[in-house]
Amino acid sequence: MLLRHTTKEIMERSALTVNPAKTCQPVGAMYASLGIHGCLPHSHGSQGCYAYHRTALTRHYKEPVIAATSAFTEGASVFGGQANLLQAIDNIFAVYNPDVIAVHTTCLSETIGDDIPQIINKAKADGKIPDGKYVIHANTPSYVGSHITGFSNMTKAMVDYFSSQNGPKQKTINLIPGYVEPSDMSEIKRIAREMGISSLMFPDTSQVLNGPMTGHYQMFPAGGSKIKDLQSTGNSLGTIAMGRMASLAAARALDAKCKVPYEMIDLPIGLQATDIFVDSLRKMAGVNVPESLSIERGQLLDVITDMQQYFFGKRVALVGDPDQVLALTKFLVSIDMYPVYIVTGSAAGKKYQKALEEATKDIPHEVKIKVGGDMLLLHQWIKNLSVDLLIGNTYVKYIAKDEDIPFIRFGFPILDRIGHSYFPTVGYKGGLRLVEKILDAVLDRKDRDSTDINFELVL
Ligand code: SF4
Repeated sequence: MLLRHTTKEIMERSALTVNPAKTCQPVGAMYASLGIHGCLPHSHGSQGCYAYHRTALTRHYKEPVIAATSAFTEGASVFGGQANLLQAIDNIFAVYNPDVIAVHTTCLSETIGDDIPQIINKAKADGKIPDGKYVIHANTPSYVGSHITGFSNMTKAMVDYFSSQNGPKQKTINLIPGYVEPSDMSEIKRIAREMGISSLMFPDTSQVLNGPMTGHYQMFPAGGSKIKDLQSTGNSLGTIAMGRMASLAAARALDAKCKVPYEMIDLPIGLQATDIFVDSLRKMAGVNVPESLSIERGQLLDVITDMQQYFFGKRVALVGDPDQVLALTKFLVSIDMYPVYIVTGSAAGKKYQKALEEATKDIPHEVKIKVGGDMLLLHQWIKNLSVDLLIGNTYVKYIAKDEDIPFIRFGFPILDRIGHSYFPTVGYKGGLRLVEKILDAVLDRKDRDSTDINFELVL
């Protein structure tokens, strides 16, 4: 009984979060910054914040996450952080020589009210930013939003600082992948390649946070969106933005700045969402869907059909980030599972809540949804009426253990398993992996609970 104090009685809470299902904005901003090639993320605040942000990402990706900090002390708290940031910019270019420094703010610097664009301009005027190098910024006060908002803000900053219409229109398509794993970003690019489409992805953490062990430390790994590519996103044919909360702001900004039209879709998790992604690519680029992708699709459909009896009617509790949760809910419903308890950590708004309600309206059970909720509430719902499967980040394992429910790790952070950085859950192939994970969890429980008489060898 790890969560022995969780009660069945649910009290209305408006000013207290217990076991939050989100983390702070700069974590997401730092993750997005790592998706620019040669970029050093910079945390404008105290050392404690930056240590936490780096640790959160390092523990999830099992890779050393690089970043710098303005190292605020009492002086900066009183007089502002300008002197610290100017000194930091000087030191970072002299010592680490990145192509870009991506500054994100913290609670403290936002409370002080540091004007980051003014400080960057001063650094430029003082000659602290070498030619051909860049300093960009995003405001990420953590007393509002979540790591998803931080990711979204930094992704938009890439448009604000780099995108331009600097040449003739290209046949390229911009892909804004949303807050997904490096493995997912690779898979999204692979699908576009498979269709013969030239794409520019930003941010792109593949080969940054899932790179190979070479025996040599590389401060700036091979992956990440190149500056010249970020600059030419303004010449692209269009943008496909995946996951409204993480990607819409950047897609809109690019449309407003460079007249690049965008299509906003769900994260391509599961069969139908991947169909929509592939169809968007097909229409935007004016190409046909190759046979190879049709085969991948058919394989996923085949497994779903073959295993349908094990999915049907299973009650699922789901917690995570809004874009993932919405796409996953639709996928679960499409394979006849019943996502009956749904919680997002980030407050994603009324429209989002409606989208979840619409997705679950035909489920023949009471469906409880809390957008901007916490894991205590999810646990209380389960205590009142249990489920067959739990899906969420590593912290959910405490609920799973206490309530003895099969559990699938999905989302951020996953601290106690590997695989998420290397095996995608987007696209048809990612759908297969998800289906495999669900089946493993459900059937392992079935085997565990079977008597000798109904312990099946063959499914
Ligand atoms: S003080 Fe704010 S920015 Fe720093 S770690 Fe805490 S929530 Fe994040």
